Amino acid sequence: MKVLILLSETGGGHRSAAEALAEGFRARLGDEVETVLVDLISEHTFWPLNQLRRTYRPMVDDALWLWRAVWYLGERPLVIRAIETAFTPLTSRPVGTYFRQQNPDLVITVHPLINHAALRVLRRAGVNAPFVTVVTDLVTTPPAWFCPDADLCCVPTGAAWERALKYGMSPERVLVTGMPISMRFHRRAIGPQEQELVRSRLGLHPELPTVLLMGGGEGMGPVEAIAVAIAEALAQETPAQMAVICGRNETLERRLRKRSWPIPVSIQGFVHNMPDWMAASDCIVTKAGPGTISEALSMGLPIILSGFVPGQEAGNIPYVTENGVGAYAEDPEEIAQVVVDWLQAGNPDLQQMKERARRLARPGATLAIVDRLLQLVSERKAEEEVVSPA
Ligand code: UDP
Repeated sequence: MKVLILLSETGGGHRSAAEALAEGFRARLGDEVETVLVDLISEHTFWPLNQLRRTYRPMVDDALWLWRAVWYLGERPLVIRAIETAFTPLTSRPVGTYFRQQNPDLVITVHPLINHAALRVLRRAGVNAPFVTVVTDLVTTPPAWFCPDADLCCVPTGAAWERALKYGMSPERVLVTGMPISMRFHRRAIGPQEQELVRSRLGLHPELPTVLLMGGGEGMGPVEAIAVAIAEALAQETPAQMAVICGRNETLERRLRKRSWPIPVSIQGFVHNMPDWMAASDCIVTKAGPGTISEALSMGLPIILSGFVPGQEAGNIPYVTENGVGAYAEDPEEIAQVVVDWLQAGNPDLQQMKERARRLARPGATLAIVDRLLQLVSERKAEEEVVSPA
């Protein structure tokens, strides 16, 4: 069986979701499934469309007004239809050829931008495989996610389900599953001794309380200013250490490595063992990325949100604060003060947030999605056999 997963390398969350689904299919079918992850826009379209992934971080970090304009336009169904109408004929040939060559049994998209045009091109190319959208925004999901002709749309929360219906999906095609995250984040709570071992393996001080700081897959936002404020506050107030994960932001990594720090600080580039870094930590400071939030919840990690990408991440702030699993602060000094409070020995609030985080998490989401999609593929094959008996 072949599963084609369409993603875009904007940020890290879409790729993480695609890899989690691939992992879920392998867990169910082993070698009998081939999963192909493709950035359709970068690899099979043309300039300037194929430059999209390079514009994401500069736009959000340095030209937020432009991002807000894109979000505003993307909220209008008319604009989505116009994009679909313009891009379907333009992408029909390269993307259609690619779809025919792949000839998948199932197509999944984990990115909002291409759903409508991709589905049209897929059908024009004569591929009848089920087409499924797996929504990877938690609450304020852009309307472009919702393509009423898709066979199924999996959403992470009830709020996303409501938006799916608002933007034209019929209820029988929408399923609330939770967010697909790697099964490696599905871990039981660990005790202090096990946590010390994890810290040692990562080169951290085994006994020091630990704050993890990151800015999504691209290391976005004022990570450096926040790191400095946290380190200074911890140095004065309580013994602790910090791990900073810079993701693909090499400039940030270089800058942080050049600094001298008043507490132990571990600086990392893009890591492939995020579950270990989360297990080693007592709390996380991050921008409001849906992937990181869902992973942190699954690991029972209290969250300080330090910022959000306007639009699709705005709803993630109340999702975290109103569910009692974290706090929101943008000012580095304020963030640092929350970290200091949380890392005080025996802080009961931290323990309660950890428990609530695990209750809010849906670590079984990936397998729930995979099981439903396997059922969908069987149903489609059965329908095709009825239509054209051998
Ligand atoms: N991530 C990772 N290694 C890194 C940095 C980030 O694996 O060094 C992963 C992280 O675990 C999460 C994703 O990248 O799955 C980031 O997704 P999120 O939705 O939080 O933010 P985005 O990067 O998409 O804006």
